[in-house]
Amino acid sequence: MEKNRDYLTNAHNRNHMIDKLNELIGKKSWFHLYCIDVDSFRKTNRLKGFQRGDALLINLFHSLCDLCPESVIFRSHGDQFFMIVEEPHTRNLISFPNCFECEGYQYTISSGLARYPESASTWSDLIIYCEFAKEKAKASKGNSLLAYEDINLEKNELNDYVEENIHQFLTENWFYLLFQPIISVMEKKVEGYEVLMRWNDPTFGVISPKVFIPIAEDSGMIIPLTKKLLCECKRILISAPSHFESRYLAINISVIDLISEGFIPFLADLFQDDEALLKKLEFEITETYCFNNFDLLKEKFKKLQSLGITISIDDFGTGFSSFEKLARLKFNRIKIDQVFIRNLPDSEKDLLILHSIASLAKNMRLKTTVEGVMNPYQQECLNQFCFNSYQGYYFAKPMHLNEALAVCDEDIKRKCNSRSKI
Ligand code: C2E
Ligand code: CA
Ligand code: CA
Repeated sequence: MEKNRDYLTNAHNRNHMIDKLNELIGKKSWFHLYCIDVDSFRKTNRLKGFQRGDALLINLFHSLCDLCPESVIFRSHGDQFFMIVEEPHTRNLISFPNCFECEGYQYTISSGLARYPESASTWSDLIIYCEFAKEKAKASKGNSLLAYEDINLEKNELNDYVEENIHQFLTENWFYLLFQPIISVMEKKVEGYEVLMRWNDPTFGVISPKVFIPIAEDSGMIIPLTKKLLCECKRILISAPSHFESRYLAINISVIDLISEGFIPFLADLFQDDEALLKKLEFEITETYCFNNFDLLKEKFKKLQSLGITISIDDFGTGFSSFEKLARLKFNRIKIDQVFIRNLPDSEKDLLILHSIASLAKNMRLKTTVEGVMNPYQQECLNQFCFNSYQGYYFAKPMHLNEALAVCDEDIKRKCNSRSKI
């Protein structure tokens, strides 16, 4: 075995990679450096033994050799490989396979990319940066590739910008609301609307709540934002009473709002002359957070319900609910997260999970809304479970209030009745 080779896979090792990086930097040749590793590798070693782990690394090395010559692939340690692609003429990235096989099992990989000279000018920085990008890829979703520049430019810059401007978001007119119709399965018509916040920024355009809500929660700004949203909802309910005779507004309430002392008094005060309107509100609270401050939340849920507000548990099935706690908390509805719908009608596993959720909800006398219904195939498949309502792009996307109120029940009925040709 050569001294520059790895004992297990026979790939070149880290020392050899550093020599090669120095050589290319010395020649001022442009190149891309990729860092690659197996998702959940440690778990595989722990659960299936080191022999399987070793076989996995050898297979991964051979899969990488199908993409690039063996001479530019390196194993540094553990399950971490690097790959150098010299003088790439385009910004096109290597297409890594979605998964690779080992002894009948499928595995996924995450990878990061740093570019010379754009990302860094020394071999050590390049290694650090592409490892960092790989870790980010793994942490965000796994089974993906991320370039170092993209983290800097897109995510970090936007996050920093939002953090710096979160106060202005309220005072400038950057705040607006969208409304997504929720469909009653039995009646085949709109039964309510989920209210979704947006930030229309003069520089960045529309910023997703997935970016600004966590920052608003960390900074405490979520409280005035939710208050502003509630004032707007009250105005809407008053201005279009005939429209809301039998329909509700579903509002996302952060646990930070709920546990803040002033929240329920604010709500009672806001609606003191229009108490009946509180019955038109449904508060959606994300499952994961519900079980942290359990006793306090239990008390707050009770108070809200005594005011006439309906409570639903959002993103149901994605947190780690304890059934014991679930049984002790009083709420009215569960919103089944879109991850269980995405792969219908093919995913047997998701069908089993949906079946269990359906019978749990039935036995606990909870209403159910299914999120993320995107096509007639999913709708038809879901019809077997008798869920109460559906929400998703197939029926209607989130839209401005006027458009949402104009969605007509005839159109919804047609979609509900359309049979997919599976
Ligand atoms: P959520 O509460 O789970 O809201 C549903 C999300 O799914 C919305 O994303 C909606 O646009 C999207 N969606 C609806 N139908 C489909 C579909 O068929 N396919 C797919 N792929 N997506 C669909 P959005 O508006 O980007 O909101 C993201 C999250 O941000 C929300 O998830 C909620 O957790 C949070 N959020 C939004 N508005 C507010 C708010 O006013 N207050 C708080 N606290 N959180 C909010
Ligand atoms: Ca929601
Ligand atoms: Ca949800």
